[in-house]
Amino acid sequence: MSKDPRDGVVNADCRLHDVANLYVAGSAVFPTGGQANPMLPAVALALRLSAHLAQTRRA
Ligand SMILES: Cc1cc2nc3c(=O)[nH]c(=O)nc-3n(C[C@H](O)[C@H](O)[C@H](O)COP(=O)(O)OP(=O)(O)OC[C@H]3O[C@@H](n4cnc5c(N)ncnc54)[C@H](O)[C@@H]3O)c2cc1C
Repeated sequence: MSKDPRDGVVNADCRLHDVANLYVAGSAVFPTGGQANPMLPAVALALRLSAHLAQTRRA
């Protein structure tokens, strides 16, 4: 995940920088490898993405 497409694959909404309708849900979006257990952050990001998609669809 990155602001700048040169630094990563997805933006802060977990959407591919270069593809308008393709999102990634999972620990693959972590910008770095952490030292703590990764599962709950991955679940939190997936929930945040589902809320974003629901809001986008409503709009
Ligand atoms: C032995 C072990 C113990 C762990 N213990 C902990 C722990 O105690 N606490 C913790 O926080 N984390 C733990 N983790 C890490 C945690 O499991 C992962 O961080 C988490 O599962 C990552 O979720 P994910 O959705 O990114 O990937 P995954 O859970 O790996 O999900 C990826 C999914 O994509 C599917 N898939 C792959 N390729 C394809 C394809 N071509 N087409 C369709 N589907 C595909 C796979 O079958 C899988 O279901 C552990 C990991 C392991 C291996």
